[in-house]
Amino acid sequence: MFDLVLRNATLPDGRQGQDIAVTKGRIAAIQPGITAEAGQVIDAAGQLVSPPFVDPHFHMDATLSLGLPRMNLSGTLLEGIALWGELRPIVTREELVERAMRYCDLAVTKGVMAVRSHVDVSDPRLVTVEALLEVRERVAPYLELQLVAFPQDGYFRGPDAEEALSRALDMGVDIVGGIPHFERTMEDGAASVEALCRIAADRGLPVDMHCDETDDPLSRHVETLAAQTVRFGLQGRVAGSHLTSMHSMDNYYVSKLLPLIAESGMAVIPNPLINMMLQGRHDTYPKRRGLTRIPQMMEMGIPVGLGQDCVMDPWYSMGTGDLLDVAHMAVHATQMGSVADKRALFDAVTVNSARIMGLEGYGLEVGCHADMVLLQARDPAEAIRLRPNRLKVIRRGRVVAETAPEQSRLSLEGRPPLIVPAAYAPRQAD
Ligand SMILES: [Zn+2]
Repeated sequence: MFDLVLRNATLPDGRQGQDIAVTKGRIAAIQPGITAEAGQVIDAAGQLVSPPFVDPHFHMDATLSLGLPRMNLSGTLLEGIALWGELRPIVTREELVERAMRYCDLAVTKGVMAVRSHVDVSDPRLVTVEALLEVRERVAPYLELQLVAFPQDGYFRGPDAEEALSRALDMGVDIVGGIPHFERTMEDGAASVEALCRIAADRGLPVDMHCDETDDPLSRHVETLAAQTVRFGLQGRVAGSHLTSMHSMDNYYVSKLLPLIAESGMAVIPNPLINMMLQGRHDTYPKRRGLTRIPQMMEMGIPVGLGQDCVMDPWYSMGTGDLLDVAHMAVHATQMGSVADKRALFDAVTVNSARIMGLEGYGLEVGCHADMVLLQARDPAEAIRLRPNRLKVIRRGRVVAETAPEQSRLSLEGRPPLIVPAAYAPRQAD
């Protein structure tokens, strides 16, 4: 007898008619026609069952602070940083915890069960760190939260940032962050990458840096990060986030850079929503998109995970907690429109990001944690098109969030009375 059986699921890899059986919080079997008894049975009715969504790049200390202490009028990254600098000294631990907990509630209803959040360590009080360490513990039963020590004002440029970053790691922050393009000079940026990789090597920690988040075609910090990854033996433990300058770089240089990244075992985390919003701000027309070269990196076998970065904060007034919004934007901005492309982008908001974060027991395989999302969609391509309701969100075999299927009543003579968007799926793959 199983605790739970999901019947007639379609899996992200295309297998149909699968039953998923759960015992003691783990997946016990995946196959068609499981007949054994179960405490609870959920009929997936041929719809997509996915492993949880994973957000590998977020700022949970700033989320839901939109409008505090004022709005970002220029909409630029730099005004966002300045605005956060106004809020940071006056924010309290209680507010930070409350906002982060409230954000996690929303994220769970969207099927998100793991988030890597950067935590600003620029304010010497480190209330951001105290708050998010508390949140990490409180959400642990339903959401894995990883924390990155992030010197927002620069590791060398920010006053006391070196000491504060080290103290944050001592307090239990999991990952070493950085922001080389925000240091005073290109040389300082390169030196910060080296210093931070050394700290990660000494402490046995991973690295995740905001890297080349500019439109400057001559920014070279990704190259440095790849080189220092190899030098310090950090292969498989380093991620570069954003990498938007790569959009503007010379093609010849990129043809050298991509193999260097691939060779270093570095992962990359573009953030399509915020990159589309913030980059190209100094352009008139034509206006650069500023999103890094996702399809080219995927072709090279570089691990690509996609993050949200921001939801309703000084940098981004939009955001819903839904990683399918991220994949949807990526389809448009990268012109990755084929079914295979969409599958790859669905992987970028699920399995790729889980691998980058090193999540244990993640996936739809026998023996993995019984963490799953039933979507009102037929397959990954349809899931990205529709960003549909998450009918059931299951954590360790227990339903933790439910949303009713989307349907509308139509009152038009001679037309059907009920319209279900998911029923408009194409007859077959293109
Ligand atoms: Zn970020």
